[in-house]
Amino acid sequence: MGAFRRTYGELEESLLAELAAYGYAKDLGARWNQTEKNLTFPNGSLLMFRYAENMLDATRRQGGQYQLLLFDEMTLTDPRVIRFLSSRLRTGDPERLPVLGVRAGSNPGGVGHGWAKTTFIDPTEGGTKVHVDERGRTVRFIPAKIDDNPHLNPEYAEDLNTLDEATRAAMRDGSWTSFSGQVFTVWRDDRHIVPASIELPASWLRYGGLDYGWSAPSVYELMARDQDGRVWLYGELVMRETPEAEQARRVLALEGNHPPCVRAADPAMWGKTSSALPVAVTYAHEGVPLRRADNDRLSGKARVHSYLEDGPACGYHRQLGWATCPMLHVLDGACPELVSTLPNLVYDKNRPEDVDTHGDDHAFDAARYALMSVGATPHLVLEGVPEREPITDPSERHIERGDVAFRPADLDNAGARRLEDHQDLNDLQSDPALARADGELPEWLGKSQRAPWLTD
Ligand SMILES: [Zn+2]
Repeated sequence: MGAFRRTYGELEESLLAELAAYGYAKDLGARWNQTEKNLTFPNGSLLMFRYAENMLDATRRQGGQYQLLLFDEMTLTDPRVIRFLSSRLRTGDPERLPVLGVRAGSNPGGVGHGWAKTTFIDPTEGGTKVHVDERGRTVRFIPAKIDDNPHLNPEYAEDLNTLDEATRAAMRDGSWTSFSGQVFTVWRDDRHIVPASIELPASWLRYGGLDYGWSAPSVYELMARDQDGRVWLYGELVMRETPEAEQARRVLALEGNHPPCVRAADPAMWGKTSSALPVAVTYAHEGVPLRRADNDRLSGKARVHSYLEDGPACGYHRQLGWATCPMLHVLDGACPELVSTLPNLVYDKNRPEDVDTHGDDHAFDAARYALMSVGATPHLVLEGVPEREPITDPSERHIERGDVAFRPADLDNAGARRLEDHQDLNDLQSDPALARADGELPEWLGKSQRAPWLTD
C-alpha cells in the first residue's frame, strides 16, 4: 500500500501526525520505521508513506508495486502524478493480494480540481450513482460537508465562514461547481482541438514559445497565425534533462522548413551563470536565435484568455455551419502537454488573480510567451536557415544585446527582414526584399529605434 502527499512535510503534518496520535497502530501489532516511513503489519502488509509532487518524483516510484493507493488532499497533486502512480497498481498474486485500487480524500480546488471533477464527480452525478469507467473500474464519489463531521472543531467552522463565497462553498459545503479555481473554464476539447489533417499554408507566419527548464521540462510550442489573426498550434517539444545545444537542435528539427519569425523565450535563459554562457547564447550558437519573451504573467494570462474566446469562424468550422469558433486551435495530437495542462490550471491561492505555478504549467508558459509576441512588435525573420556548422572557435562572435541572442552568421547566410506591426500580411509575403549583411548587422537592425531588442 502506498499513502501519498506532495511532500514529506505535508505527510508529517497530516497522515503521520494522525498516525502518531494512535502510537503508529501499535495496538494492531504494527511496526513503524521512521527512516523508511514504512508501517509493517504482522501479516507482512506494508503501508508506505511517500511523497510525489511532480512527475520526476512519481517516476522514482516506477519500480513500486501497489495493491492500494491512498491520496490525501488529492487535488493538490498534479493529476498526471496520480494517473502515473495508478498505473503501478498490480499484483503478482491476485488470490492473496487483490488489487484494491485508489482511495482518495480531497477538498475542491487545487491543480487537480478539473481532473477530479471530470473523473469522479461528473460521471457519478455528484455521488448519486456508481460509474464504471472505460477500463471497467468502479468509480464512486462520497460527498462530505462540514456538518457531516460531528468531531470538527467549531473554530475551524468559524474560519470557513469568513472565506469568500466561492471558496466557502467549496470548503464548507463540498461544492465542486461553485468553486472558481479553474482558470481557463472556456476551454472545450471539441471546440479548440481540430483534426490533425488540416493543412497550415506555408504563407502563414510561424511563432515559437519556449519555457526553459532542466528537471522541470523545457517546453517548446509552435504555432501559425492565419489572416484572421487566429493561431493554430501544430508542434510541441517536452525536453527533460536535455542539454541546451541538443534542445536547440530538436527545436530546429521540429520547425522543419518553416522557421518561426519569432521564438519568444523564457527570460531566465539570459541569466548569467559563472561556468557557462547564457542558455540563449548556446541556442544562438546552434542557429536558433531567440527573443526575450514578455514575462508579465497577468498580461500573458489575459492574452491566452482572449485567444481562447470565439471570433468569426475559421474556414474549417464555417464548413461545419458554425458562425464562430475559438481564436486558438490545436491540431489533434500535436500538443498533448498543452492540452492536458491548460484546462487544469487553477488560480493561485495567495495571488488569486494569477495561475498557480505549483502545477505543471510549462506548456502554458511557452504558449503564453508565443502569444505575447504575436503581432505586437517588429519581428526578425530568418529564412532558409542553413545547415549548422559545429562551433570550433569559442570566440566566435554572437550578438547578445537587450532582448535577442543570435549569430551574425545567421544573418549572412539566411537573410533577415523586418516585419512591422499591422503590415498587410500578403504584402509581406510577396516582398522579397531581404536585408543582408556581411558579418555586420543590417543597417535597419543597427539603427531602428523600434527594434526592441537593441534598447538595453
Ligand atoms: Zn475554427
